[in-house]
Amino acid sequence: NEVEVPEARGVEEHKVQARVSYSIVFVTAEAAPYSKTGGLGDVCGSLPIALAARGHRVMVISPRYIHGTPEDKKFSGAVDLDCRIKLYCFGAVQEVGFFHEFRDGVDWIFVDHPSFHRPGNLYGDKFGTFGDNQFRFTLLSHAACEAPLVLPLGGYTYGDKCLFLVNDWHAGLVPILLAAKYRPHGVYKDARSILVIHNIAHQGVEPAITYSNLGLPPEWYGALEWVFPNWARMHALDTGEAVNFLKGAIVTVDRILTVSKGYSWEITTSEGGYGLHELLSSRKSVLNGITNGIDENEWDPSTDKHIAYNYSADDLSGKVKCKISLQKELGLAERPECPMIGFIGRLDYQKGIDLIRMAIPEIMENDVQFVMLGSGNPEFEDWMRATESTYRDKFRGWVGFNVPVSHKITAGCDILLMPSTFEPCGLNQLYAMRYGTVPVVHETGGLRDTVQNFNPYAEGTNGEGEGEGTGWTFSPLTKESMLVALGYAIRTYNEYKSSWKGLMKRGMAKDYTWVNAATQYEQVIEWAFMDPP
Ligand code: ADP
Repeated sequence: NEVEVPEARGVEEHKVQARVSYSIVFVTAEAAPYSKTGGLGDVCGSLPIALAARGHRVMVISPRYIHGTPEDKKFSGAVDLDCRIKLYCFGAVQEVGFFHEFRDGVDWIFVDHPSFHRPGNLYGDKFGTFGDNQFRFTLLSHAACEAPLVLPLGGYTYGDKCLFLVNDWHAGLVPILLAAKYRPHGVYKDARSILVIHNIAHQGVEPAITYSNLGLPPEWYGALEWVFPNWARMHALDTGEAVNFLKGAIVTVDRILTVSKGYSWEITTSEGGYGLHELLSSRKSVLNGITNGIDENEWDPSTDKHIAYNYSADDLSGKVKCKISLQKELGLAERPECPMIGFIGRLDYQKGIDLIRMAIPEIMENDVQFVMLGSGNPEFEDWMRATESTYRDKFRGWVGFNVPVSHKITAGCDILLMPSTFEPCGLNQLYAMRYGTVPVVHETGGLRDTVQNFNPYAEGTNGEGEGEGTGWTFSPLTKESMLVALGYAIRTYNEYKSSWKGLMKRGMAKDYTWVNAATQYEQVIEWAFMDPP
């Protein structure tokens, strides 16, 4: 079964000539379209399909979230496998069920338990983060380890020679369970695991006393042990001892990946590692980064069903129509010539909302329109509503999580602003470029890797002097440098039409398909199987 493997970026040292078919088990808290709060959901909704298309047997295990809203119908295609198993954790026997949908070549498995059935979003509700998330995701990890052994999918199980692709802290217990619970009994001897870090700021840290709940043998405590530095302790009796799921995964997993190459370096620095940088540096030899792809069925301006008019790089006429339609929908003046700026994302400090908040009076001095879509921190949600009433004629703040609106903004705007403090990969700038919307981003992580700063003096690829680059990157992360970059973008849009067209076209021509990323994942998987666990 020998096929040519296309050239991959970032993993050159481990080039593989032959391709074998692997059994791959994704474990994740989110998988779009079933569940999504951010990029994790997008990746775990698309990458499995791309890997299945390359001939692998792929299963994705995530919770069956039931919120009691119409959204629940997303799970309606999944049938109960009528397979209940008992897991021992949190001092009791927990029973979970499994639902299954076979779609796009992938076995989508949903772990069913009452703790996943509640109003709110995946991790919390209006009162904050759920207090039992450690329990919920411990359950997910235990169930995920059993699934390949017990679920007869399409007639036969995945078996124990599989590759676990565990995502973020929610699935972090999986490699520890493989090592501590299964391998001593000869199970999963030939399995391998890869940890994908989508966001290192969330690590699943809970008091040390909870260790006994996790269903792990006592002698494995050291793998999860985590001691806070003195300054982070609450009081004199606080010993700072905790368990850290992500740390446990980092020390037990076979390979570690992040969602961009830049971020895989950043997490080894004291600024970007959130306390785990030294540990990650010690595992540098198995650490790498692969830039996320984008789901072309979902994000393609020539076929997108959410936008008013379809368009492509060859015929951009639909884009301005999308803009007018967006202006109409938002109740803004219908002005095709007015630069329109967009922002889409979680309303979190990570996304640089406080910078936008500080800069908004100055941004609004320009002749621009600005639309923000986001939900999250109530303080920022209130600020968006208040700003809308202050600048009624040019600012709109859409509070909520709304996929069709995110497509309309991506297509209708001219500029997408992303002043993220850190960004492991970032998807919105990739979508924006594909839709001919020019990103203005803080030079960090995946944003630095994917957006090339505009150079107006370069000849340009077609020799017409329209410059080079796909957007603007700014650094340091200050209001002033963001305003300078945004100012350049607005001026270029207003005054240098051919440069702007060049920016749009170069962005639209970028290849961020999952095929490219899946090939690189495949190589890391192959590499993981080369070494003993
Ligand atoms: P993160 O994972 O940190 O949230 P990414 O840029 O990697 O950031 O992914 C965010 C994903 O979530 C994108 O697909 C983006 O379009 C989507 N998204 C974020 N906020 C919203 C929202 N309010 N409405 C619709 N989609 C959103």
